[in-house]
Amino acid sequence: MSSCLIVDDSKVIRKVARRILEDFQLDIDEAGDGQEALDRCGTSMPDVIFLDWNMPVMGGMQFLKNLRAQDVEKQPTVIFCTTENDMSHIREAMEAGADEYIMKPFDRDIIEAKLNQVGVI
Ligand SMILES: [Mg+2]
Repeated sequence: MSSCLIVDDSKVIRKVARRILEDFQLDIDEAGDGQEALDRCGTSMPDVIFLDWNMPVMGGMQFLKNLRAQDVEKQPTVIFCTTENDMSHIREAMEAGADEYIMKPFDRDIIEAKLNQVGVI
């Protein structure tokens, strides 16, 4: 079973994402900001991370840079989740090491297609 960490400061978005991702037999964990996500990764590195951009304490970009700087056996697949008007953020995130991105609001079909694309399901 692949493990998935949902990182978003919105409890509603985490709940929606969790409900969808659980359908794909993924083991789900959640974090409300980048720092919390780093702590989670330190305990147990997930296989895939759904990452929000704007979050308090530590945003998605800072988290991504921290994560990619870590010397770990296997880096997780990072799917950056953003709103449509964030094209510059998308470019920045991909350059910082995100593997893929999805637009918010996402639905089951979009998530399924993306998980297929990155080879998680
Ligand atoms: Mg946010």
